[in-house]
Amino acid sequence: MTDMRDELRSLFSAITGRDADGVWSAPGRVNLIGEHTDYNEGFVLPFAIDRRTLVAAGLRDDSLIRVASTFSDDVVELPLPDLAEAQRDGHLQGWAAYPLGVAWALGEAGADLSAVRGVDLVIDSNVPVGAGLSSSAAIESSVGVALAELWNLELDRPALALVGQRAENEAVGAPTGIMDQSASLLGRPDAAVFLDCRSLETAIVPLGLAEAGLTILVIDTGVKHEHSTGGYRERRASCEAGAAAMGVSSLRDLSVEDLDLARTMLDDVTFRRVRHVVTENQRVLDTVQALRSAGPQAIGDLLDASHRSMRDDFEISVPELDLAVETAQQNGAVGARMTGGGFGGAAIALVAEDAVSRIQVAMDGAFAEHGFDTPDTFVVRPSEGAKREP
Ligand code: ADP
Ligand code: MG
Repeated sequence: MTDMRDELRSLFSAITGRDADGVWSAPGRVNLIGEHTDYNEGFVLPFAIDRRTLVAAGLRDDSLIRVASTFSDDVVELPLPDLAEAQRDGHLQGWAAYPLGVAWALGEAGADLSAVRGVDLVIDSNVPVGAGLSSSAAIESSVGVALAELWNLELDRPALALVGQRAENEAVGAPTGIMDQSASLLGRPDAAVFLDCRSLETAIVPLGLAEAGLTILVIDTGVKHEHSTGGYRERRASCEAGAAAMGVSSLRDLSVEDLDLARTMLDDVTFRRVRHVVTENQRVLDTVQALRSAGPQAIGDLLDASHRSMRDDFEISVPELDLAVETAQQNGAVGARMTGGGFGGAAIALVAEDAVSRIQVAMDGAFAEHGFDTPDTFVVRPSEGAKREP
C-alpha cells in the first residue's frame, strides 16, 4: 500500500504540476452471508477487504472538478456548478460517472457546489473490477471521504454510504442497495459489518479469524452470464409478488415459522424464492450470534446451508460456483458458499490458514477436470474501512 500511495502522489504531481493535499482510500468488500436479502429489507453481513482504491486529491483555485484514473487515459473535467444539469441530462458517463456522481450526490446532500473550491482527483486501485468485490463502492467511498474532508462537510459514514449509493443509482444508473458502501466505509480489521437494511442500523461483529487460524478464500470463477441482469430483476419481482400474496410489505416481515402457511398460499417457484430469503435472513442472525458466542469455527454449516438455498431454492448458482463450493468442502473448508448476486462471479470458503495452497491446487485440478477455465483463487483479509492515508 505504501508503494501504491507514493506512486499515486507522483502521478498526481505529474498530471497537475503540484503536490496533492492528501491521499484517501477505501476497500472493496466480500459478503460473508445474506444474499438477495438487502432489497427485501433484511440482513447482510459483509466485510471490507485488503484491496483498496486510492485517491490523491488537491483543491484548485477555480471551480473545476477534474478526474483521472490509472484505469483510463482520459482526464474528465466539468465545472462543479454544472454537475446537477449534467446528472439530469444523463451526461455523466463511463468510469468518470462514479467520482463525478459522488460530487453531485454530495451537492444533493447539502454541499454548495457553486461555493466550494474545485478539485483534482487522481485514482488508482488494486480492487479487481467486475469480480464481485465491489470496486464501484471502493471508488465511491474513497472519493466521498476525500471530498467530505476537503470541503469540510459534516457527513458521518452512514450519510456518506447513502451518497455513494445515490451516485451509483442516479448518476451511474445501477439499481444497487446500500450494502457495499456500508462495508467499504464502516469496515474494521478482522470484523464484519452487520447491516439491517430496513433501519440502516449497523454493528461491528468481530470475526476472530486470525485467532482461530482461519482465513477466507475467494474463488473467482470468471463466469459472467448475460442473463444476470434479467435474472436479478426476475428474482426481485418474485420476492415482491411473494410478499404481496402473504400480505406483508416486504419479506423481512416473514419468519421461518410462517413458511408452512406460505407453502399453502404460493406457487412452488414463488414459495422457494420466499423460503430462500426468509431462511437466509435467519442464517445471518444465526451467524452473528455464532460468531459472538463461539467464533468462526461455528459458522460453517450456515455458510453451506446458504449455498444450498441459493442453488436449490433461489436458483442463482451455476455449475462452476457449485464446483468451487464442493471442492472447498471436500478439501476441509469449514464452510463455503457462492457470494454476490449469482449467475456467475465468485464463491468464498472459510478455510484453515495452512490449507490454502492445498485447496488452491485442488480447485485448479477440479476445474480442469470439468473443462472449466482455471479460477482465480486468492485470500482476502477483513480490513479497515475508508480512511485518510498517512
Ligand atoms: P464491481 O463488481 O467491481 O463493483 P461494477 O460494474 O459495479 O463492478 O463497477 C465497476 C466499474 O466501476 C468500472 O467499470 C469502472 O467504471 C468503475 N471503477 C471501479 N474502479 C475504478 C477505478 N479505480 N478507476 C476508474 N473507474 C473505476
Ligand atoms: Mg459494483
